[in-house]
Amino acid sequence: MFSGDDWLTFEQRHVWHPYASMQNPPPMLAVARADGVRLYLEDDTALIDGMSSWWCAIHGYNVPELNAAVIEQTQKMAHVMFGGLTHRPAAELAAALLEIVPKGLKYVFFADSGSVSVETAIKMALQYWQAQGKRKKTRFLTIRHGYHGDTFGAMGVCDPVSGMHQLFSAMLPQHIFADAPPNGTDADWDDAQISDFSDKISRHHAQLAAVILEPVVQGAGGMRMYAPEFLRRVRKLCDAFDVLLIVDEIATGFGRTGKLFACEHAGISPDIMCVGKALTGGYMTLAAVLSNAKICAGIHQNDSILMHGPTFMANPLACAVAVASLRLLLDSPWQQRVDAIKKQLKFELEPCRDLPQVADVRVIGAIGVIEMKNPVDMARIQPLFVEKEVWIRPFGKLIYIMPPYIISPDDLSHLTRAMCEVAAI
Ligand SMILES: *Cc1c(COP(=O)(O)O)cnc(C)c1O
Repeated sequence: MFSGDDWLTFEQRHVWHPYASMQNPPPMLAVARADGVRLYLEDDTALIDGMSSWWCAIHGYNVPELNAAVIEQTQKMAHVMFGGLTHRPAAELAAALLEIVPKGLKYVFFADSGSVSVETAIKMALQYWQAQGKRKKTRFLTIRHGYHGDTFGAMGVCDPVSGMHQLFSAMLPQHIFADAPPNGTDADWDDAQISDFSDKISRHHAQLAAVILEPVVQGAGGMRMYAPEFLRRVRKLCDAFDVLLIVDEIATGFGRTGKLFACEHAGISPDIMCVGKALTGGYMTLAAVLSNAKICAGIHQNDSILMHGPTFMANPLACAVAVASLRLLLDSPWQQRVDAIKKQLKFELEPCRDLPQVADVRVIGAIGVIEMKNPVDMARIQPLFVEKEVWIRPFGKLIYIMPPYIISPDDLSHLTRAMCEVAAI
């Protein structure tokens, strides 16, 4: 159909990209294939991937075990509706998940993307209180700098300033935002970090259905890392004020922070938990909402049922590759790998702290962040990274990586060197 680079010209004129202009499209790199930790462009340039395709590709690309799972499932069935029908991959994935998630979580709802799982979690909380006859409990409490997705319910609980959705604020339900805890660990804990949250939950609990937040690491809302003690306090306050707790592990799940789930840093279990992104090892879109017995029993009071059901719910291909991805993860020395990445990130990024342009350097698990004092100039910086043969995509003031866990020390050094060099410009 297209000859030469014609397809690229056509694509630039007709295909939207995330958060980008269609009329004045930013430059795009054309990826022809990917293997291990490398993205290969159409001109055969190899870039070392620092992004894991937005947290997803934890095993890297072209993974034999995952390829095999897709092929095998494709030959049985790619998809069937989930209404009135079920299949083995859904059961196997549910069993694999329930074995590893925080204890108490017992029920699995398969959604087709992270945002949709957040919508479902919000509905679950609302339906829970409806069924209890507590009809005033319809609002949500969250912390600033959060990101929970791009759909309307999710947008309503994203940071009203950094959450990219100010444009819609007039159309969104008005939820309650508490100050986020500062960047830091339990060693830096101070009770003042929870005071605004504590104040807001005690003031508004009669109207609150749930608290929703990202545990320990806040992703797209600012790449922030806070003390697990905050999460412990949140769990206690939710219990004390009869408010449900929804934890969004879509970015943090499956080992990224050094624990399988970031909740484990605090030793807490939520009432509802969303997972997505790395669930299929980056092969397909799939998310899941896990809930405990209290939520399940609560929703079904008076024979109510959960009012949600996406067309592609529990897609068998996605479930099969997720089962293979979890098996691959759990059979691998993922903890040692993430720990080694953490140590190397700390060692190699730390010197950047002294640069006059740098505001902060933060590392947790396999996530390394350089926060600049000023927003980075993407038009200038993006081509520099490509010249250095790495794929790193900054946003705002943040230059950050979360590479596949299988990255070698040499390739990781290549990434951190590029980050430090660019931060120094
Ligand atoms: C990416 C993300 C989402 C949204 O997931 P999509 O699959 O993009 O809809 C929600 N919450 C968090 C924490 C995320 O990182």
